Amino acid sequence: MIIKEDDKMKDNLEVSQRTLNMGTENSFVVLAEVNKRISKGEDILSFCIGQPDFPTPKNIVDAAIKALRDGKTGYTASAGIPEARKAVADYFSRTRNIKVDPESVVLDCGGKPFIMYTIGCVTTPGQGHEVLYPNPGYPIYRSQATLQGAKGVALPLLEKKGFVFDIDEFKKKINEKTRLLVLNSPHNPTGSVISKNDLFEIAETLEKYPKCWVFSDEIYSQIIYDDEFNSIASIKNMQERTVILDGLSKTYSMPGWRLGFITNMKLAKHISTWVLNNTSCAAHMTQWACVEALNGKQDEAKKMVKEFKERRDIIVDGLNSIKGFSCLKPGGAFYAWPNVTEACKITGVKDSEEFRIKLLDEAKVAVLADPHFGALNKNEGFHVRFSYARSKKEI
Ligand code: PLP
Repeated sequence: MIIKEDDKMKDNLEVSQRTLNMGTENSFVVLAEVNKRISKGEDILSFCIGQPDFPTPKNIVDAAIKALRDGKTGYTASAGIPEARKAVADYFSRTRNIKVDPESVVLDCGGKPFIMYTIGCVTTPGQGHEVLYPNPGYPIYRSQATLQGAKGVALPLLEKKGFVFDIDEFKKKINEKTRLLVLNSPHNPTGSVISKNDLFEIAETLEKYPKCWVFSDEIYSQIIYDDEFNSIASIKNMQERTVILDGLSKTYSMPGWRLGFITNMKLAKHISTWVLNNTSCAAHMTQWACVEALNGKQDEAKKMVKEFKERRDIIVDGLNSIKGFSCLKPGGAFYAWPNVTEACKITGVKDSEEFRIKLLDEAKVAVLADPHFGALNKNEGFHVRFSYARSKKEI
């Protein structure tokens, strides 16, 4: 009798459709698979996950330890402690050449949650609101658009255009229902960088669409090699409609600390209500680490960029010397995105996912493949992503 009741319960306990439809971030899925194989004794060289391989700079670690010893262990205001909001405002002001008020800054546990909060702030379910996002791209833009009841619209980044933002496609796809344009420069997974001229053209196009916000994902802003970094928010009239995202994960090698931040004058108070409803606040001691990271000495962060640049040159040259690979030179971030269409043919596999699995099984090298970053673009062939957060010797 009891068993029957339990069975009945099981049938009634449904998991929601939106949960079942939810996207994932495959670097975490592949990482779990790779770690499992490593723990069973397999000698695998992983180029999967987008996290720097350097230790967090000592001055930042010391600041967090001091904060703990000083009892900075309680909840904070949801937008963050005043000292951290000011440090972030000063950082945004000096690196984007704009004036940022601490009141317009919100901190939380990593940059990622702000994707959800921003989409939640600017789209309403059931209204047909659209979110334009780069494809290939960081998979969370699309999955959060769907979760929040908006329509994700992919903007293809094409190899023949150097994987940079495609203005023509953008002009074709933006419309009265577009509520958010997601930009990501330097870009994950291609390493492309949007030029100043392109940013001006995007801004000009947006003038005709006053209801469209911009989410400028600038999490790799400080990891840039050949050009200087440009933000769309630095262009006249763009700051008020742009949510700038940045954080500590990449620049200071602190992904596990979980500290990201945004600025936008109008949305800050709403976004901090999202923080309140979700995490309450970023970890207190980590916010003090953030103050030190942004205000303290920058030599370790600069050293990391120099090292990444040298690795970029080694990996791009190396990949281009392998038959069947062709790789453009990324301008920023720490990813190489070679075209492996020929390599797939040579090795007799049907696509990059099969190629990835073959690389893992036979060469013991772990990478990600293009289905992990969105739908395949027509006539673009196949790609894999190497995160070159590995030593030069390993590369
Ligand atoms: N945006 C992009 C493009 C990323 O690649 C990542 C992490 O890989 C994030 C945002 C989120 O970074 P975090 O949540 O670690 O700050």
